[in-house]
Amino acid sequence: MNPARWLVATTNAHKLDEIRVLLGSAPIEVVSLAALCPIPAPAETGATFAENARLKAAGYAIATGMPTIAEDSGLEIDALDGRPGVHSARYLGSDASYPERFAEILRELDARPTAPRSARFVSAVAVVHQGVVVFETRGVVEGEIARTPSGEGGFGYDPIFYYPPFGRTLGDVSQREKLAVAHRGHAFRALAAWLKNDTPRLS
Ligand code: IMP
Repeated sequence: MNPARWLVATTNAHKLDEIRVLLGSAPIEVVSLAALCPIPAPAETGATFAENARLKAAGYAIATGMPTIAEDSGLEIDALDGRPGVHSARYLGSDASYPERFAEILRELDARPTAPRSARFVSAVAVVHQGVVVFETRGVVEGEIARTPSGEGGFGYDPIFYYPPFGRTLGDVSQREKLAVAHRGHAFRALAAWLKNDTPRLS
């Protein structure tokens, strides 16, 4: 039986907006954390996106009793040994603005003029139901760090993430264009396909 209501456990309104679009055709009713009484956020102590996605899904599933979809995502920059990585949301401190983060990243890359500017966004998704991780996936988009931020679209690091096939940053494209190629699009389309095909096996 397909449980009626599934929790999407994110406090990031931009991510939730993208996830609602991507799960639009899935045969489930999506409930967000905003619709529930406040729940303390599970600590994101994992070393990888996948570990943190599992921790979040398991923590919120225990707290709510609902089948829970959680995502952990971020930006990996090769010349910075993968930073900001799992710390993307809090890079330079949770009070830092994205323009401050962009300036620091661009300064660090300027200090390494021969290093590659290659980078990727990663989205790890985990679903926990009755204490069990019943689905996991990972989506990736490869790109480069732009020389200067550009664009008002998207959120987070999108204005410095240059996507060569578009010749623009993800801040410069529509949500539809972004979701067609980006990490969250790949991961949540795989989840939507699983929800359509396999959830009848869940009880
Ligand atoms: P999380 O909510 O702990 O998974 O943190 C994700 C963080 O990674 C966000 O707050 C952004 O800083 C960054 N991030 C993840 N996905 C995107 C994206 O699609 N565009 C830009 N930044 C992103």
